[in-house]
Amino acid sequence: MGPVCVRCGAALRDGGRCEDHGAVAALRTYAPLNDAAFQAVTAPGGVPVWQLSPLPYGWSVGGMAVAGPPDEPVGLALAWSGPSPLGDDEADLIVVAEEPGVGLGARYAGLPGLDAGDCVTGAPDEHVEVRGHPVALWCCPQAPPDRTVLVGEADGAWLWLVLWPADAEALLLEHLLLADARERLVPQQRGEPSRHLLLP
Ligand SMILES: [Zn+2]
Repeated sequence: MGPVCVRCGAALRDGGRCEDHGAVAALRTYAPLNDAAFQAVTAPGGVPVWQLSPLPYGWSVGGMAVAGPPDEPVGLALAWSGPSPLGDDEADLIVVAEEPGVGLGARYAGLPGLDAGDCVTGAPDEHVEVRGHPVALWCCPQAPPDRTVLVGEADGAWLWLVLWPADAEALLLEHLLLADARERLVPQQRGEPSRHLLLP
């Protein structure tokens, strides 16, 4: 499948324009994860390539979505799934790093618009550990009820965490740690393609 509009999934016309959204970042999705594509995004430049480090027990990576140039993305999503910390159900997680104005995180979050500015007010709701430092995250109450959306900022890029089902947020309380694969690659178990990564 060729690159599509990051905001609506429509095929792009000549010059990378979407009929509805104009000049947008081209989105490419790799599910299951593709080695060559993953290697390209870990080149210097682009946005952080957040990996779960370590990978929670039983979890696996189910693909990647890249917005913008494949070797210097402006938005990057990695998807995992595994046993829910709260029961027998499967849980899903998508972590997005993106520059402002791209719209990839908002798309997985199920939010209209491009950025999460409205969510980031008041005291933070959660923290996630990035390279040994806590990063503040705010919950987006406008997100659809089937998921929990948390957003913050890390390494100069928006950081989105989108979790299904909504109560999988408890996963965060189990010391979710993020590391940037551009600095240090963490081996990740490969799994089935993520059911949430491919956007309609
Ligand atoms: Zn579009």
